[in-house]
Amino acid sequence: MAIRTIIRADNPVLRKKAHRVVDYDKKFQTLVDDMIETMLDAPGVGLAAPQVAVSQRLIVVRLSDDEESKEEFGEEAGKLYVVANPEIIKTSKDVAEGVEGCLSIPGYVGTVDRFETITLKGYDRYGKPLRIKADGWLARVFQHEIDHLDGRLYIDIAKKVWEPKEDEARTTAE
Ligand code: ZN
Repeated sequence: MAIRTIIRADNPVLRKKAHRVVDYDKKFQTLVDDMIETMLDAPGVGLAAPQVAVSQRLIVVRLSDDEESKEEFGEEAGKLYVVANPEIIKTSKDVAEGVEGCLSIPGYVGTVDRFETITLKGYDRYGKPLRIKADGWLARVFQHEIDHLDGRLYIDIAKKVWEPKEDEARTTAE
């Protein structure tokens, strides 16, 4: 496994529509492992393949598992999700405003409206179909990461973007 370089928002790879994952081969497995390691090292709660300059529809997500997160997220805390070709198939009517950041846009956070609840389908790292229902913060992270696969960044849709003070910085990082 290896930590890969996270590219910044001015890199054109982040603006491309990523390609569907077709081969779940050895090279792909290495990419998955590297993305997990890169996300944990950053640290972030999610990472999309275009952020490591690979234009493929692959995301990894993991909410923290510290005491505070366990209390807040229950069994979702610390659970690792690897989703290839994710597709949101259902969304709630309700939208929630929240603060998010992005590992490709260090030093900033923004206020973004996201669907409160989503259902997504996709494939696991071995190509087996999966379906995930997510709400709240987890749903937000998935929507943020899936946006990356279509070349969209949170700053495109944020109502407000600012440079947080240090104590605010914990809220996010994707
Ligand atoms: Zn991001």
